Amino acid sequence: MFRVRFAPSPTGFLHIGGLRTALYNELFALHHGGVFVLRIEDTDRARYVEGAVENLLRTLAWAGVQPTEGPYLDEAGVVRERGEYGPYVQSARLDLYREYAEKLLASGHGYRCFCTPERLEEVKTGQAAAKMPVMYDRHCRSLSVEDGDARMKDGASWVLRLRIPDDGATTFVDAIRGEVSFQNALIDDQVLVKSDGFPTYHLANVVDDHLMQITHVIRGEEWLPSTPKHLLLYQAFGWEAPMFAHLPLLLNADRSKLSKRQGDVAVEDYKNKGYLPEAIVNFVALLGWNPTADREVYTKGELAAEFALEKINKSGAVCAIDKLNWLNREYLKEMSADELVQRASPFYVEQGIDAPAALLEKAVTLEQRRVSTLAEFPEATAFLFTDRLEYDPALLAAKKSDAATAKSRLEGLLAFFSGLSDESFSDAKSLESLTIAQVAAQGWTNSESLWPLRVALTGRAMSPGPFEVAWALGKEKTIARITTAIQTLA
Ligand code: GLU
Repeated sequence: MFRVRFAPSPTGFLHIGGLRTALYNELFALHHGGVFVLRIEDTDRARYVEGAVENLLRTLAWAGVQPTEGPYLDEAGVVRERGEYGPYVQSARLDLYREYAEKLLASGHGYRCFCTPERLEEVKTGQAAAKMPVMYDRHCRSLSVEDGDARMKDGASWVLRLRIPDDGATTFVDAIRGEVSFQNALIDDQVLVKSDGFPTYHLANVVDDHLMQITHVIRGEEWLPSTPKHLLLYQAFGWEAPMFAHLPLLLNADRSKLSKRQGDVAVEDYKNKGYLPEAIVNFVALLGWNPTADREVYTKGELAAEFALEKINKSGAVCAIDKLNWLNREYLKEMSADELVQRASPFYVEQGIDAPAALLEKAVTLEQRRVSTLAEFPEATAFLFTDRLEYDPALLAAKKSDAATAKSRLEGLLAFFSGLSDESFSDAKSLESLTIAQVAAQGWTNSESLWPLRVALTGRAMSPGPFEVAWALGKEKTIARITTAIQTLA
């Protein structure tokens, strides 16, 4: 049974790269009928952020990423856990790490380091000046356990470090990158337990991956330099290491590393901007991989069916917002009016628009093929919800026409619409044919008639067509708006 995990540190928000890692783990598990574990790596207390775990769980749930094991939010928003390998939050596992740290000390794979921060700083500065690799100079390596015990008794502060072999190389086969090799002489004697007794990421991560029986570690490329340390830890404990797969970096459009400065990186920002979770998931899934290369829109089931680590690109993936906008539009186009209302409602409420569902349904239908995000709906359709539009008289006349013509066409259309039944407004297409026939019969041109009509109904230079808007407004409001527009021109 394959077991994979997503192991975020709760720093306050879920990064778009984190979502991709979570998703690839999920797709891998789905593809192989395996288990997808969520583990919270919160041993770095300095980076602790109140509410970050809840926020992370909420965002994952919003994106529809569903771990099989680990923490989740119940209906009341309380963090609970499922699975038999818990606890799944590292701060609840501290005794375990202590136990394994002692084993390393006893076997000699770990050693106590009493170097002060000042000394470490001096070493660094010296190495940098001499243009040498900056790393711990292994000063405390030869200290005997007895000497260490004595210094501890004196109250000296210490950390536990990993004893990296002096020479040779640590080599492994990455499922995406192939063979990767690191010279041991260039690997730092990693701190495993800090002076406050808390384990570092490296120790806790390896102990947990082993105890949780993780078979494949799928994570971002930024962790690649840590992998030899982890492999040496597995060796030190005498454990079999999992398979590693390091996902390509996410890049800005200019191929620099994805950064906040050039756009949004938090999944929540995309949510707040009105992107659909299915579009985000589809978009993120294609950052570094495409199952077929001739399509862009996939369901999660289709993605899972095609997913294979070997197919993921080694090179960085550009996070192109245009493509996300395009995908979001594709998903919006396919959505039923009901569903759209439900999804867009919070954005209307946020803008202070509290309209009846029937009108909202018409509003979202009007703009369904025009907007890129849910958040654009309220602004794009605001003209439907006001009691009285403000007109710019200059705008009411079509190009190459004038106010007098606009006024007379609107009067003609007002008379014509007044004679139509309410029913005639329930279908934009037939209202259009009726009106076009009337325009022709009167010898008017389309542009000199339909432009003023559209502006009369929307007050805007750009909007959906007049018949769709008349359909959304219904006969009564259509008549009222044309009347006001005529008064503006008087
Ligand atoms: N806690 C690490 C992170 O925040 C996990 C890295 C890993 O998957 O090993 O990304």
